[in-house]
Amino acid sequence: MLKGKILLSTVVLGLIFLSGCFIFNDSTENRGKQKEMAKEKMIFTFLGAPGSGKGTLAQRCANNLGFEVLSTGDLFRQHISNKTNIGKKLNEYMEKGQLVPDELVVKMVKEWLTSRSDSDKSIILDGFPRTSLQAKKLLEIIQQDMPNYVFKIVKLEIPQEEISQRLVNRRVCSNKRCQAIYNTSMPEISSGKCPKCGAELLQRKDDTPEVIADRFEVYNKHEKELINFYESEGLEIEKLNVSQKTPDIIFQDFKKML
Ligand code: AMP
Repeated sequence: MLKGKILLSTVVLGLIFLSGCFIFNDSTENRGKQKEMAKEKMIFTFLGAPGSGKGTLAQRCANNLGFEVLSTGDLFRQHISNKTNIGKKLNEYMEKGQLVPDELVVKMVKEWLTSRSDSDKSIILDGFPRTSLQAKKLLEIIQQDMPNYVFKIVKLEIPQEEISQRLVNRRVCSNKRCQAIYNTSMPEISSGKCPKCGAELLQRKDDTPEVIADRFEVYNKHEKELINFYESEGLEIEKLNVSQKTPDIIFQDFKKML
């Protein structure tokens, strides 16, 4: 009888010990996975009409999360203001609100991306890809040169009527190292100078109502093409509602997606 009781308690204790091992193993494994996820590097592309706030959100991610940002529009404007040979070519398309040819854009983006493939920072691509060919080339670059990055697509959703007004009122810092973005309704820019660095604030040449209408038309055509391409590749498009929201709220909502 006593022997039987001792045997039973040994079995019970053994079972408790074994299940403890499983639980410990599982949580160590989970912790490992969580660490891996925290270290996971991402390449985000933002879909969203001109003026939907892609640039502002990207700036916040750079300042607060240490992300690297490539805005193809800013990169091209830098070439134009530095009067480089590429800049002259780019300007022909940009001043009419037309897209720059894929071949040229992909070459410039590939150079920028591959020079960062060893960095430990996540990346935001603002304004790229804009065509299905650019998207196809981007997937190839990630596969071949940056396999340790996860590609994510985020679509900023907002009615176009809401943004046309915002675009006309947009002002950008003329200092190429600052490039902060403001709105004429902000009292801190009433002097016409950037509150961050003191440089002059300017209205972008393509932020006029006529060019904005052209840019929307071009954008809508290419957005459809891009969405079809991503869907055909089985890639998920995550939606971020940015209508009637402040940049702070949009940034908080975006962080929930990380
Ligand atoms: P953004 O600053 O993104 O609104 O871009 C301003 C202009 O730069 C666009 O209207 C295009 O002319 C050109 N651009 C920027 N990104 C691209 C791209 N990925 N493909 C083609 N053209 C682009």
